[in-house]
Amino acid sequence: MLLRQLFDHETWTYTYLVADEESGEAMLIDPVIDQIARDTKLLEELGLKLVYTMDTHAHADHITASGLLRQRLGSKAVVGADAGAVCADILVTDGATLEVGGLKFEVRATPGHTNGCVTYVTADHRNVFCGDALFIRGTGRTDFQEGSAEQLYRSIHDKIFTLPDDAIIWPGHDYHGLTFSTVGEEQRLNPRVGDGKTEAEFVELMKNLNLPLPKKIDVAVPANLQCGLVPATSMSGEPVPERGWAAIERTAQGVPEVTIGWVAEHKGAIRMVDVREIDEAASDGVIDGVEVIPMGTVDEASTSWDKEEPVITICRSGRRSGRVALELEKLGFKRMASMRGGMVAWQSQ
Ligand code: FE
Repeated sequence: MLLRQLFDHETWTYTYLVADEESGEAMLIDPVIDQIARDTKLLEELGLKLVYTMDTHAHADHITASGLLRQRLGSKAVVGADAGAVCADILVTDGATLEVGGLKFEVRATPGHTNGCVTYVTADHRNVFCGDALFIRGTGRTDFQEGSAEQLYRSIHDKIFTLPDDAIIWPGHDYHGLTFSTVGEEQRLNPRVGDGKTEAEFVELMKNLNLPLPKKIDVAVPANLQCGLVPATSMSGEPVPERGWAAIERTAQGVPEVTIGWVAEHKGAIRMVDVREIDEAASDGVIDGVEVIPMGTVDEASTSWDKEEPVITICRSGRRSGRVALELEKLGFKRMASMRGGMVAWQSQ
């Protein structure tokens, strides 16, 4: 079994890549949308096929990549049936099993942090992916999303602490730089639920944490109920832009796009690249201030660009520029989008 622990610095989230080396089939537990380029690159480099994304719950602090990964790689989104994420392909309940190549996982319902939390345990009971139920020397909070301290205490004691002492706890987050623990270690040392702490003591402690709400809760929870895919249009039919540096709308293929109006407002201020061939661009006209870098040479040219800086790609109709935008995302660019409709739309305005 191949196992990689991956980290998202902005939200302190661990994502786990688990794969069966023989068949090359893989799963990602709790993938983060902002790390999709890193994760798809790693899968590609290791020659793995993503079969499942498995979310431990509907997160309040980050947006899942499950929907976009499904669009791009054909993976199936797995989530607990009580999480309320109707977008998922497979809704799992306590006792369900999942197979990835030669690997088998057991699903254990571990509600309490949210009412839809599940823990994925390898069939040999050696690896426990418990999301935000149990942390290293801590636990998930229980003060929103139908959280319940009573329920969490029982989930940890009945579903996690009943595993072997040396089973490895792989948490959903760690805020102190720790990476993993074991069932035995947490039973002994966890100050909230281990070391003989009673349910009543735990409930009292959780009542008095007084934590601020996660920064992204208002966007993250609704988005995660849609597998992280922001709907393309709202109830009133207006496009709903993605949060962030520009009003991005993703196509069904996951291509990030901005409108020609957005380009008109921002041209000259940020890098814009016309990816048509030189002759084609010269004869059809180029938007002022836009560099012409034919599609086949963008990879090389982009090695000197700052990956944090925005890049807008443009072509005749928006197809090639969309492909280049996805390619840039794979290369690690964080703010890239294609101009919707291309020069055809630009010139008709
Ligand atoms: Fe959480």
